[in-house]
Amino acid sequence: MHDRSARTRRTFLGTLGRGTLGLAAFVCATACGGEHDEAAAQHAGHGGGGAGRCALCGMRVTRGNAFASGATEASGNAVLFDSVKCMFRWLGQHADARDPWTTEHLSRTERPARDQLYVMGTDIDGPMGADLVPVDTREHAEQIRTGHHGTLVLAFGEVTSDVLDELFRM
Ligand SMILES: [Zn+2]
Repeated sequence: MHDRSARTRRTFLGTLGRGTLGLAAFVCATACGGEHDEAAAQHAGHGGGGAGRCALCGMRVTRGNAFASGATEASGNAVLFDSVKCMFRWLGQHADARDPWTTEHLSRTERPARDQLYVMGTDIDGPMGADLVPVDTREHAEQIRTGHHGTLVLAFGEVTSDVLDELFRM
C-alpha cells in the first residue's frame, strides 16, 4: 500500500516535470520570435547568426564554411543549411521561402543562390556526402568540374528533385 502511493507520487512528479519542460519550450518558442535581448543572447546563432542547425537534417552549421547555405521563411525567419542539397530539398518543400543563398566555393562568400552555378559529381564532399559545389562564373565552374572530376554544371533552376534524389543516394 505504502509502496504503491510512493510510485503514484513519482509518476505524478514525472508528469509534472514533463509539463514544466513543455511550458519552458513553449515560452522559449514565443520569446525567441521577438527582439527580446535576453532571448536573443541565449539563442545567438538561431536563425540569422553565425551558427545554428540545418533546417532540414538538424546538423550543425557554421556560416562561412563551404556548403553553408540559407534562406528566409515566409514568416521572415532566417534558416540555415549545412549542405547545398539540404537547401534545395527544403526549398522544394517551402515554395513560399525567399532569398536563398549559398557559399561560393572559391571565395567562401555568401551569394544569392539563384546567381550561382552548381558543379555536380565532384570529389569535393559536403558534410552530407556528395553535394553540389556553388561557384560564381562558368569559367570557375569548368575549373572545378575538370579539376575535381565533376560531371555536370547546373544552373539554379536545373537542380531538380531527380538531381537531389541522386545526390542523397550517393
Ligand atoms: Zn542538412
